Amino acid sequence: QAKAHGGGRCAFFGVDLRERVQRHMVLEQDLRHAVANDELWVAYQPVVDLRGDRMVAVEGLLRWSHPLHGTVSPGEFIPLAEESDLIVPIGAHMLRLATRQIAAERERHDLDLHLNANLSPRQLEDPDLLDHVQHALADSGLPAHALCLEITENAIMQDTTAATRILTALRELGIFLAIDDFGTGYSSLAQLRRLPVDILKIDRTFVTDLGTCDEVEVIVAGIVAMSHAVGLDVVAEGIETAAQLAIIRDLGCDQGQGYHLGKPYPIGELFPPPADRR
Ligand code: C2E
Ligand code: MG
Ligand code: MG
Ligand code: MG
Repeated sequence: QAKAHGGGRCAFFGVDLRERVQRHMVLEQDLRHAVANDELWVAYQPVVDLRGDRMVAVEGLLRWSHPLHGTVSPGEFIPLAEESDLIVPIGAHMLRLATRQIAAERERHDLDLHLNANLSPRQLEDPDLLDHVQHALADSGLPAHALCLEITENAIMQDTTAATRILTALRELGIFLAIDDFGTGYSSLAQLRRLPVDILKIDRTFVTDLGTCDEVEVIVAGIVAMSHAVGLDVVAEGIETAAQLAIIRDLGCDQGQGYHLGKPYPIGELFPPPADRR
């Protein structure tokens, strides 16, 4: 019986692993043509100002409509893009698309809406990054102050000197910079204080534990107090319930993001074309 069980498990893992490796290879191969085939698009999630309850920004989140596998999440294809260096052209494409779409909606609705876009560590090392950002702004007409680039703390901590140099150059364009997923890496607020950044996004794992764990509330309160002391605005990610929103508001976070406030939507759903408006 033990043998049958063991054999079954082994076969199961074998098939499972083979399928995963095959999917990985197929997706990595197909990703090479995703930009040219126009399969990548951007979903936009509202970022809400917690004092005025107003949508002040949207975070652009990449989506891949694969002809056979359907929608592939960035959690799966961004790592593939990073391994193969495709992240640089894909990131530049994303910036062009998103700045163009948000600039158009700002114009059409006379809105002061900001765009947040994610940068991967590899993009931060790319000597052409500054050019890509400048071109996206110039081509779209999006004002620099309406763009905020999000970088994870680990991307910066790998080489703080190099990161500080590029972040400073980006910021001199007039754009804003945010630390994404704060609390999941190994940096401290003391280290972040020296970086040229404007916004700190508290990782959603903290928000998830709010209300069930008193310690987390104390930690978040501390992050907010220290961030404000060094002049950073604080955004809480992953707010899924009204209860979490209430606590986040009480703790003094400046902005919030999460399914309770709005999911990532295709641009046409966030801003329906005039004919669809009833
Ligand atoms: P992120 O930048 O931290 O983005 C937030 C992620 O949390 C998004 O997942 C969003 O859909 C999800 N989320 C938002 N609110 C909630 C909530 O209330 N509950 C839960 N459970 N999740 C929530 P998504 O779109 O799958 O993106 C995952 C990650 O992929 C992003 O994390 C970001 O690191 C990366 N990514 C997405 N687009 C890009 C891109 O254009 N470039 C780069 N380099 N990375 C990207
Ligand atoms: Mg982000
Ligand atoms: Mg995040
Ligand atoms: Mg994340």
